[in-house]
Amino acid sequence: MQQNNRQVAILRVPVPAAPWRMHRQALKRSLMAHLMSYKTMDDAATSVLERTADERDSHARQERGRLRDKLGRAITDLRVSVTDRCNFKCVYCRTGNEGAQYSELPIADYLRMVRRFVALGVEKVRLTGGEPLLRSGLLEMIGELAKMRTAYLPDGTSTEEGRPLDIALTTNGHLLEHMAGSLKEAGLNRITVSMDAVDAETFAAITRVPRSFDRVLAGIRQAKSVGLGPVKVNCVLLRGFNDGQIEQFAEFSRREGVIVRFIEFMPLEEDRSWRPETVVPMDEIVGRLDAYRPLVELPPNSVSETAKRFTFDDGLGEVGIIAPVSRPFCGHCSRVRLTSDGKIRTCLFSQSDHDLYGEMARGGTDSELDAYIRKVVMRKEARHHIGEPGFQKPSRNMVHIGG
Ligand code: SAM
Ligand code: SF4
Repeated sequence: MQQNNRQVAILRVPVPAAPWRMHRQALKRSLMAHLMSYKTMDDAATSVLERTADERDSHARQERGRLRDKLGRAITDLRVSVTDRCNFKCVYCRTGNEGAQYSELPIADYLRMVRRFVALGVEKVRLTGGEPLLRSGLLEMIGELAKMRTAYLPDGTSTEEGRPLDIALTTNGHLLEHMAGSLKEAGLNRITVSMDAVDAETFAAITRVPRSFDRVLAGIRQAKSVGLGPVKVNCVLLRGFNDGQIEQFAEFSRREGVIVRFIEFMPLEEDRSWRPETVVPMDEIVGRLDAYRPLVELPPNSVSETAKRFTFDDGLGEVGIIAPVSRPFCGHCSRVRLTSDGKIRTCLFSQSDHDLYGEMARGGTDSELDAYIRKVVMRKEARHHIGEPGFQKPSRNMVHIGG
């Protein structure tokens, strides 16, 4: 196995001695016990809904400060789609027959909207699409984001000083090899590359772009070498398509020094092909990984962390599982999204969006925009209803929202 020493060092996560010394069965039992205590879909929402009136009042009192919804969830994470164009046709996302459906705004307009969110408490901005690397002005946008400062300290007190934003980007990686250096120089902190197979043929069958695998792999390696590591690699698992690759992805994480994130397939695709049977659930992924090599759970990076994180018994490699279908995390959601045409979406599964750009174009002042954002965020949905009777598909698909 070829080792990349630099990345291995980054990903060699110190884990407590006890778990490795545990008998394999004991380790498995402790892992499974933990997973069974994980929230169910209803728990995820009711943990918020069942807060006492006093708690809700106290959150309401804070509304003049940090941005929160009616359930008290602080909104700290903004995803901005800068285009809904894309150069891939991933089978679980686009049909490939439809192009972009929504307009793109001048970069300066996105920046003004982002500034309002930051003034209200947003600390992380993730640029996405469509494919964000197709968007002209992206580097300038990152440069401006890098100059912004958070409005709150970690303890929640407002501050004039602030810290730099956490600036991340999600890309399919096709154009990454040549752009990685400039992205880093512009001020990007973190990058996530979507790669749904570690085998070139399966990869091309998913993206429906010939010879795409080598370019994406080169992009990942280049991102690491310019200092954008550890790179996260997102893989949406589809039963019967790429679910045979779980173990190879574990191997890939260990060999390439990247963090692999398996994502459960959600009903957000253009061609309405989602079926519950196509989803590869978290328990199954964990079982397969643990059989490949004993897993050791890692603590969450934050309370709103969407991924359940693991390393292996030798501390080499990291895999995470994002399980919005089998283990929803809505109760801790800290996210809102801004679409390429300047609409706020409070949930991936919203039935409508809110025209922040319209407010701006009508001449809204900063304080009017702030009031509009607060009003919209206040009504953020408690949770999604994937897999429930009467589930309604959202008003936009993933490629037109920004994932
Ligand atoms: N084009 C970029 C990319 O592919 O990384 C950014 C946009 S893409 C919509 C963002 C993320 O959403 C990708 O990691 C992609 O795999 C994921 N995604 C797209 N459709 C999805 C679906 N139906 N269910 C789960 N994840 C999905
Ligand atoms: Fe394009 Fe990303 Fe959707 Fe694939 S997942 S079609 S790369 S937007």
